Amino acid sequence: MIEALKQIQLSVLLYLSGSCGVLIVLSLFTGTLSPRRKQALVSMETEAMFLLLADYFAYIYRGDMSVTGYYVVRISNFLVYLLSLFITHAFNLYLMDLCRNEGKLDRLPKRLIVCEVLFLSGIIMLVISQFTGLYYYFDEFNKYHRAPGILLNYFFPLTMTLLLITVIFDCRKVLEKRVIIPLFLFSILPYMATILQMFLYGLSLTNITIVGVIVLLYLFEIRNMSLIQKARLAAEQASNAKSRFLANISHEIRTPINTIMGSTELLLREDPAGVPKGYFLSIMNHSFDIMGASENLLELINDILDISKIESGKMHLVQQEYEPFDKLHSTVSLIRGRSNQKGLSFDIEVDEDIPSKLYGDSGKIKQVILNLLTNAVKYTEKGGFSLKIKVLETNGDKCRLQFQVKDTGIGIKQENIGNLFNAFERFDESRNSSIQGTGLGLDISMQFALLMGGKLWCESVYGEGSVFYFEVEQKIIDGAPSGEFVEKTEFEFRGPYIPQFTAPEANILIVDDNPVNLSVEKNLLKDTKMQIVTCSSGEECLNLLDKMKFDLVLLDHMMPGMDGIETVGVIREKNKELPVIALTANYFDGAEQFYKSKGFDGFLTKPIDIKEMEKLLLDKLDKELVTINTFMENAPMDTELAPDLKWLYEIDDLSVPAGIKACGGAKIYIFSLLLFLDTIDENAKAIGSAYEAKDLHLMAVKVHALKTSSRIIGAERLAAIAGKMEAAGKNNDLNYITAHYDELIEKYLSFKNKLAPLSALSGEIGEDIKEPMPEEELKDAYAALSEYAGSMDYESAQMALDEIGKYRLPPKEQDKVSSIAKALKNLDWDKVKEILNEK
Ligand code: ADP
Repeated sequence: MIEALKQIQLSVLLYLSGSCGVLIVLSLFTGTLSPRRKQALVSMETEAMFLLLADYFAYIYRGDMSVTGYYVVRISNFLVYLLSLFITHAFNLYLMDLCRNEGKLDRLPKRLIVCEVLFLSGIIMLVISQFTGLYYYFDEFNKYHRAPGILLNYFFPLTMTLLLITVIFDCRKVLEKRVIIPLFLFSILPYMATILQMFLYGLSLTNITIVGVIVLLYLFEIRNMSLIQKARLAAEQASNAKSRFLANISHEIRTPINTIMGSTELLLREDPAGVPKGYFLSIMNHSFDIMGASENLLELINDILDISKIESGKMHLVQQEYEPFDKLHSTVSLIRGRSNQKGLSFDIEVDEDIPSKLYGDSGKIKQVILNLLTNAVKYTEKGGFSLKIKVLETNGDKCRLQFQVKDTGIGIKQENIGNLFNAFERFDESRNSSIQGTGLGLDISMQFALLMGGKLWCESVYGEGSVFYFEVEQKIIDGAPSGEFVEKTEFEFRGPYIPQFTAPEANILIVDDNPVNLSVEKNLLKDTKMQIVTCSSGEECLNLLDKMKFDLVLLDHMMPGMDGIETVGVIREKNKELPVIALTANYFDGAEQFYKSKGFDGFLTKPIDIKEMEKLLLDKLDKELVTINTFMENAPMDTELAPDLKWLYEIDDLSVPAGIKACGGAKIYIFSLLLFLDTIDENAKAIGSAYEAKDLHLMAVKVHALKTSSRIIGAERLAAIAGKMEAAGKNNDLNYITAHYDELIEKYLSFKNKLAPLSALSGEIGEDIKEPMPEEELKDAYAALSEYAGSMDYESAQMALDEIGKYRLPPKEQDKVSSIAKALKNLDWDKVKEILNEK
């Protein structure tokens, strides 16, 4: 019976050894296994394969008295014992990895270490036994025989297994059930097999069982890993869902911001003529604030989207040719305004030999620099900051640029520098509580730098300032030096807005499902005098295009029903020429290519930048239809003050160019100055009473308004002082307010004298373009107003005032009308009547 079993066993040994070979290959190609466990499994399998082979040969050559037989029998038997020790050792390593990773044990159980000692001792004893016959010996027929010492041979692997069982038992709570079961099987089965084998001399039960359990272990690993894989897949899906959610939410947020920014833009364009001055100034102030807040919000959404794209690995480089100075001008002009507002110096030093044309992702470089410069402005109170750009080296058609942003700000503590570039990290929270920020900027900058193969780092002395370095390599397209960098003041039109062109003959169609956006978009284009038709769906758009001829279509991307993409698809089937521009609230790299590939001629992102929109329209509309606004061409005309007002340039603490820029033109600037002058007394009084009453909240509100209007007129120092007072008001810092109150009021009131000569102009500005109002008509208008006041009919009274506002009035009548408007605003009907009755 045993003999028959032995025969079967021989085939089983071979068969199993082959299976082990297959397992090795399978394990090597199983991508889900952790490297360490893969190593343990593969070595177990390899050892098992050789062990079985050795066992096989030991049987085959048993009793073979040739020289080969002599050596094969000895070597094979040695290998069988040696490899079983090795397998136990590999299992021990496997268990160690499991305890560390899945069991999350900081310290491995000592028993696992003891096992390693046993393993080494086992090998030493085995070698000794070869020379002493301690474990086994061979008779003269070259047959294997156990010696009494064989028990010692079993001692090592069996004790190791025993220890391993106890470890598995101890870890049963921290390890998962699906892991525990194969582990127990792995250790207990060979144990039992060995005991059995001791009595069934000549059978290789242990070896066979070992292979069996290795197969088991592999299968369990695979199952285990496929569960992990599933979990990973679920996590990836969740992360994709998060990215999609963010993209959607950003779309949803951008749509209302589009309305807010568009409407604010329209408010800022309102004609000031005939509107009560104080009222107009406060509208300007609030509009500036809303604009600023919307811009911040937009920046935040863009940052969050960037982070989410970086996390999901969807952030890519968008490389193209660009002129470095071009990018630099727009970057510097964005920061210059902010540094002036804070009264900080901002020095720029640019290597003259920066190549004039480069190739790379200029958008991302600009974003990094803007972020570093914005931080320099934000975190510096005194002194200033600088931007230095150097060419570090040129190598063939590549050059390495270094940007250095240095500030004299609050600095960063040494222990924080390590975390500086992590998302959401902000330092000195108590000190910086009034500084807006999310802690995303530097993380994004670092990711961008890495994406471009560049470097970003910081050196800082707490309390003294920081230097940020950013290095990046760019391809040179035109190596001619750019020369000296001369800063340009970019002129921005605000206030009385002048479109870049007019096109009264052009018919354009705007398609947007959001009615408020539709109205904003239409109104933004009103001054171009184009004939604008609107509709709210893709289907309606197609209907309209069938019925009427349009010269251009602005088509929203995301719409319920037929969206922009489908609609443009249908349009293109019939009409390849019609310019169609996509309106999108989605922000993504490669949008240009995407929309072009879908059949659009261009795209605009919401919130819509009116200048961009006009530029694109100007480009796409038939040239015959448009008249370029010559005023725009000669724009500098309105950036200079009239000769009799040149003295304004001499006033210290008043930056006329900054004021003209903020207001959008010299004319509106003078108007704003007048408003500012007219309201000094009233406002100073209001600030004074808030201060007397120690009402810091009200104080903050009042100085906030002062800060904004000072900025509008270019009184930057005053704006800076007001800004600090505002922050102190918000922080309930009465000491600061008490210490600086006099300085603020003194500075504020000083403008009364400085601007006094302007009073003579009061009433003239903005009026010169209007027709004078015939006396009779004015009388009629007053009579009508009187009647409306009697019946307290607000709307009709307002309409009458609007009508009067269209004409130029003598100064006395203008004052009267302004007072009526003010009383009407307060619904003070008695006052209205009283003014009307005055002679
Ligand atoms: P944010 O400015 O929006 O908080 P950033 O990621 O740009 O986010 O910066 C992270 C933090 O690093 C800031 O909150 C600030 O504490 C610190 N920091 C960044 N730049 C400077 C700087 N120039 N001077 C001092 N601290 C800085």
